[in-house]
Amino acid sequence: MTDVLFTHSYFLRFDPKEFAAMTPYPPLGTLYAAAAVRRSGYSVSLFDSMLASAEAEIVPLLVEHRARILVIYDDDFNYLTKMCLTRMREAAFTLSAFAKQAGCAVVVHGSDPVDHVEAYLQHGADYVVCGEGEETLKKLLAYLLRSQGSVEEIRGLAFRSGELIVRTPRREVRKDLDALPLPARDLVDLERYRRAWTERHGYFSINMVTTRGCPFHCNWCAKPLYGQVYNSRSPRCVVEEMLELKRTVNPDHLWFCDDIFGLKPGWVQEFSRLVREQGASIPFKCLARVDLLLKGETIAQLSDAGCTSVWVGAESGSQKILNAMDKGTTVEQIQNATRALKSHGIRVGFFLQYGYPGEDREDIRKTFEMVRRAMPDEIGISVSYPLPGTKFYDSVRGQLNGKRNWVDSEDLAMMFRGTFIPEFYRVLHRVTHKNFRLWQGWDTARELARRRGRVDRAALRRLAASAYHMVTLPPLKARLEWLSRKEA
Ligand code: SF4
Repeated sequence: MTDVLFTHSYFLRFDPKEFAAMTPYPPLGTLYAAAAVRRSGYSVSLFDSMLASAEAEIVPLLVEHRARILVIYDDDFNYLTKMCLTRMREAAFTLSAFAKQAGCAVVVHGSDPVDHVEAYLQHGADYVVCGEGEETLKKLLAYLLRSQGSVEEIRGLAFRSGELIVRTPRREVRKDLDALPLPARDLVDLERYRRAWTERHGYFSINMVTTRGCPFHCNWCAKPLYGQVYNSRSPRCVVEEMLELKRTVNPDHLWFCDDIFGLKPGWVQEFSRLVREQGASIPFKCLARVDLLLKGETIAQLSDAGCTSVWVGAESGSQKILNAMDKGTTVEQIQNATRALKSHGIRVGFFLQYGYPGEDREDIRKTFEMVRRAMPDEIGISVSYPLPGTKFYDSVRGQLNGKRNWVDSEDLAMMFRGTFIPEFYRVLHRVTHKNFRLWQGWDTARELARRRGRVDRAALRRLAASAYHMVTLPPLKARLEWLSRKEA
């Protein structure tokens, strides 16, 4: 018998684009919470939805563990959970229903439950843990399993009391992240993850996190859990975990899934020094801001620490749009940071965003121009997505149609009145990708001609893709042109 069965609502199987990409990571936030609860003396187990095929797979575990409480604790460090996808919300409701049938109390935590407290309470949840979760969850378990304290006095909770929904005051976030136990990775079948990665990509990547939150003000970025604060683990603590991972899991690659890696002054420098000193280096990918990357020797230090890839929120090639977003960065910084990263052999990924209010054809042209000039190694494209609690959401609230959330991560529906009709953005998404692949092919051909070198497989693939896009792009561009004349 187990005190608490943990799970989370992100099923890779239900997100077609991500399932095709097959880059699964264990639910880090869930594993942090499970470790914290276990340290408090409760027995825990896990149903890991990430690699499961259906919600019903939890049923045998509910029977086997006879848990008293099911905690559906979404991974706060997985950006896909921050998208509040409705297919995963449905999954959470189904998991709750199975737990109820098995006689469990149900606790939920995550961005979507915080945004939709009432819906979750209507669909089987007894408690919603709001904000940072570990402390609130421990207090709630003490109340439920050890009859300690009173539920009204637990900060950071929402629950039903008769017809009313009670929301207790917000809990302060934890500052001392080093004091947290390491994520309970032993609860996960890491060999399944290793197989999924190596069969598809030829290497095994695992996730870690060094910070919580972000202090910047990009006005479309929702922060329902941590608010505007930023706290960081010490470089020493992070390097110790890397050494531990090397010893126990031996991954080929790390994904630091922080919103922003190494924001604190001097952090990257110290981290880089310790990684080299202690032989902890593992090739890694992280997210960063272009303005921070350009400070001091940050990029060289990242490279020395083993960084192989950095994704930045470039968003737009139009300064007008970056300013409207309160992004706090410039197009020039995007170009400079990309150049500097490449010169250190670090691959660059751009997140691009279309559809922000006020964006017109000229702004879109500038985004194309920025991508062509910078030529990152990868791009990811989205459209502006109004999430509650943001300035952007408030500004378009009156235009929202019935749909408030995407079904899955390739939905990309425009949920407010954009400059162009929604279909325009779907086609623009494809045109941008095709243009990008075409440019990559041209650059490859030019480079091969310059070096007169052997054509390796990757180059051949890029050339073949380029030829394909050269044929398929013109009709798509014509369609985009036609759609741009339709009234939004
Ligand atoms: S820097 Fe990134 S995480 Fe921070 S507010 Fe902007 S988009 Fe959000």
